[in-house]
Amino acid sequence: MADVLSHKRFQDEEEAYKWVEAHLWPNGPVCPRCGGLDRNTKLRGKSTRIGTYKCKDCRKPFTVKVGTIFEDSHIPMRLWLQAIALLCASKKGISSNQLHRMMGITLKSAWFMSHRSREATRSGSLTPIGSDGIVEIDETIQGRQAEAPTARRCAAANTAAGRSATSS
Ligand SMILES: [Zn+2]
Repeated sequence: MADVLSHKRFQDEEEAYKWVEAHLWPNGPVCPRCGGLDRNTKLRGKSTRIGTYKCKDCRKPFTVKVGTIFEDSHIPMRLWLQAIALLCASKKGISSNQLHRMMGITLKSAWFMSHRSREATRSGSLTPIGSDGIVEIDETIQGRQAEAPTARRCAAANTAAGRSATSS
């Protein structure tokens, strides 16, 4: 995993933005307010935040974060990408506590990122990753599979089979 996280997009903020932009805007930046495609310019001032564009149609600035799970978050994009990579690479998922320890971030940030990342894998209105509504992640299953037995059903099946739930 250390090798995977040494990739530029996990270490360099500018590279992280470039990577997300390439995935969310394959045909160039799109204004989230008016949908404008052609008249968006990247702002390059010294005090300008990384990844800021300005739409010349509606005259508003925006970044690739608008309308995604990254919106309204002060956590650097490279840390978001690290967290998502860790969450998706672990077969049984990663707790917020583990993310907090592994990444050296606050528990609050870890909790926030894991919740938002899991939210993004749900189907429904908030599916910003994967514009066609399909989210593909390797290895990990987020949430409970429909056919997976619940704890109660397991206990009932064990009781019916004459086994004690506590025996192994
Ligand atoms: Zn616009």
